[in-house]
Amino acid sequence: MSIEATLIAPDQLATLQAAEPVVIIDTRDADTFAAGHIPGAVNLREVFTFLAPVPLRRHKSPGRRTMRVFRRPRMKTVSHIQRNPHGHWVGDGFPVRSIFSYDDNPVAFSPFLLLDFGGPTTFEPTTKRRGVGSHPHRGFETVTIVYAGEVSHRDSTGAGGTIGPGDVQWMTAAAGIVHEEFHSEAFGRSGGPFQMVQLWVNLPARHKMAPPGYQGITAAQTPTVDLPDVNGQVAGTARLIAGSLLGAQGPAKTFTPMQVWDVQLKAGHTVTLSAPEGHTTVPLVLKGRVKTQDGAEATDAEMIVYQRAGEGVTLTAVTDTTLLWLAGEPIDEPVVGYGPFVMNSEAEIHQAFSDFQSGKMGRLG
Ligand code: MN
Repeated sequence: MSIEATLIAPDQLATLQAAEPVVIIDTRDADTFAAGHIPGAVNLREVFTFLAPVPLRRHKSPGRRTMRVFRRPRMKTVSHIQRNPHGHWVGDGFPVRSIFSYDDNPVAFSPFLLLDFGGPTTFEPTTKRRGVGSHPHRGFETVTIVYAGEVSHRDSTGAGGTIGPGDVQWMTAAAGIVHEEFHSEAFGRSGGPFQMVQLWVNLPARHKMAPPGYQGITAAQTPTVDLPDVNGQVAGTARLIAGSLLGAQGPAKTFTPMQVWDVQLKAGHTVTLSAPEGHTTVPLVLKGRVKTQDGAEATDAEMIVYQRAGEGVTLTAVTDTTLLWLAGEPIDEPVVGYGPFVMNSEAEIHQAFSDFQSGKMGRLG
């Protein structure tokens, strides 16, 4: 029995065409094979750690371990770079740039509906409460990630809390919730640098009327994974909020598959990150500059929007870079939204207004 495999050395990787179906042997389960089967005994482990394994066939050698054969993933190509230099205020606490919104394009970013990048900015000390008072949501989830400053939240389920740098509020509005979002009292008093992201994640129709919920996720609860580059050096880190990588799992419970990672890349290093075939893949650069395998570049507050075909992307950090890695399975359903409600039909939007007005989404205690 033979294995259909084209063995390639790490230094040849860059010459491969994106769609070239190259087959390589992964040494993870076959270390004892490596010397005999891989030219120069190079350790391909580091190279392919992040590539989605696609087993083609298994080869059993008498007296030896099973060797798995992997196909190198096809790379996603860049659709465009998404940016919005125009900011607006949400309440009096959050100066944001809406990088994308389902209003403009309900399909391209699904399952994500909207992303507001708040800051970076600096607030003067104050005794005033800055933020957004009581308001409802229905039909989706809001995910608030704080990078600098502190945000306090209270909602009609009785949940709440204050989150600081590295912490995340994952709020499931679903059937309906009423909440408020303010700077924390302590941050108001001290003032200082402020930066956050609020991401809206759609729910499939069958979960839109699920009970509301709240996940407070602290930085300490999110596992950090080292990202190796093609030479096996540490190229950066990924802090997993949702989704899994290298056996580590982000703590957020999600209704559909997605990856939400806080990624740091070191200047000059190249990493390959896997994002499943067919998934929306839209990393947002918060600070720094990266170059894609297509040669496109993205810098502060710019989002790389990839085509859905393909199983991974390669990014080179031109400078030290912080990015929010977002990928998820699209929800192929109609999107009808109005203000704080995102449903599947006009009738459901009217119902949402009526349910809110009659107090069915609860109120703040
Ligand atoms: Mn809100």
